[in-house]
Amino acid sequence: KKNRKKPHIFLPHLVASLEKVDKSYIMVKPDGVQRGLVGEIISRFEKKGFKLTGLKLFQCPKELAEEHYKDLKSKPFFPKLIDYITSGPVVCMAWEGVGVVASARKLIGATNPLQAEPGTIRGDLAVQTGRNVVHGSDSPENGEREIALWFKEGEICEWSPAQAPC
Ligand code: ADP
Repeated sequence: KKNRKKPHIFLPHLVASLEKVDKSYIMVKPDGVQRGLVGEIISRFEKKGFKLTGLKLFQCPKELAEEHYKDLKSKPFFPKLIDYITSGPVVCMAWEGVGVVASARKLIGATNPLQAEPGTIRGDLAVQTGRNVVHGSDSPENGEREIALWFKEGEICEWSPAQAPC
């Protein structure tokens, strides 16, 4: 009698509020821009329910591409990767929300688009690892680092949804 279990109360709104709001740097790569996939890619993050706080079309200089991908410097494909990212404008985005880093990785799919699940961005829209249309930060720490790297002060906007009580 003493060890009777507490009744299980499921309060999804409270569970969600306990999870952390984080930030992800998402980028439509040059092939995505050139193939007219910018709207489609933005739309997937909007529909999921994340908040866009930064957005710009940008021709990335070589030095910035090298800094962004510095952990991959020793990889044989590194020079090709830098050529790819600097081959035309990219669309830089900062997205915010509960679990956005992990969720964006799921929405984007595996690095190799042929291994990415149908329904993911890469699974639906790409075929080559070297042309995989979109980037998403791989940790909340890298989300913060990459947003600071790609955006200047004043380019990130904080805002509240219109549905919030006014
Ligand atoms: P992800 O972008 O899925 O986080 P990585 O961080 O491993 O993947 O790699 C960064 C990017 O480098 C990939 O998105 C892809 O554009 C490129 N890349 C990774 N592996 C290869 C490869 N074997 N050949 C060519 N490009 C690659």
